[in-house]
Amino acid sequence: MYRIINVFFLVLFFSCGTTKLKETNSSTIKTNTVLKEEESVKEVNVLPISNNIFSTSDDVSRIMSFLASDDLQGRDSGSEGIEKAAVFIEKEFKKNGLTPYFSTYRDTISNFKKPAFNVVGLIEGNDPELKKEFLIIGAHYDHIGQLPGTTDVIANGANDNASGTTTVMEIARYFGKTKKNKRSILFVLFTAEEKGLLGSKHLAKKLKQENFNLYTMLNYEMVGVPLIGKDYLMYVTGYESSNLADIGNAYANEKIIGFLPKAKEFGLFKRSDNYPFHQEFNVPSQTFCTFDFTNFNHYHNVGDENELMDFEHMANIINKSIPMIEAIVNSTTKEIKY
Ligand SMILES: [Zn+2]
Repeated sequence: MYRIINVFFLVLFFSCGTTKLKETNSSTIKTNTVLKEEESVKEVNVLPISNNIFSTSDDVSRIMSFLASDDLQGRDSGSEGIEKAAVFIEKEFKKNGLTPYFSTYRDTISNFKKPAFNVVGLIEGNDPELKKEFLIIGAHYDHIGQLPGTTDVIANGANDNASGTTTVMEIARYFGKTKKNKRSILFVLFTAEEKGLLGSKHLAKKLKQENFNLYTMLNYEMVGVPLIGKDYLMYVTGYESSNLADIGNAYANEKIIGFLPKAKEFGLFKRSDNYPFHQEFNVPSQTFCTFDFTNFNHYHNVGDENELMDFEHMANIINKSIPMIEAIVNSTTKEIKY
């Protein structure tokens, strides 16, 4: 997620003070430990784990363990570390039956000083008419690289945004396997989000120029740690600007999407890769997220590591998103609207 730290920490600093912030840290950790020991998910979230198991916590763990490893050096755009991530994503796309949308999977961006690219895979729709319409499912795969320090200097970006990347890759694996989509789906892992949404700005502009027929753009960002005490699984940014939450919940047959007032307060609608698509296309372009400013204390820091991620929760996000997305790509008319 692009630079919310200043506002976020200013608010925490002025409202709680440093000491109280520390207390919050330890109590959050304690809660997580207790929950893990009891293997109880109910207390974290009232929604039951999906019966529809496609992705398991092992599937999630395999991808996360690679993307957020020290070997990738925090996936800074234009670095050797992010190159390894890109090669990995390309291999997975190929293995799972996605084809390149452009001449290769790589969409080199024109607005950044170092060589950097989005990774773009296609699953063409199976209906002769509806396949002309596209759904984009995206997440950024870059992070902020390394931070000054003496011991751990690598900002691994497990939550931000190996978690969203993994979610998109797993949803891509599902549709690559089943090919159950009438509309076409573009799966995009964006680069240089942390530099100011550069990858998505580049791609949105480029697709707009070629009259790309975009129905809706769904983005995943920071979905590695569950919300606490909510009656929904994830919130969506720009909640009140479209009927996505209502339609998505109807498609999913349960309330997976909710409204987080803090997301509106901090303007998160404009802080991730959905926003350039909203600007260029003016169609519903929104981000799903489970970071609520209280459930994770390592935003843009070296502590954003796999050990703190909840792979069970992530698999649940994937498994509960699939029926919703399947309904979006197969509905006879475009039901999601601004
Ligand atoms: Zn970020």
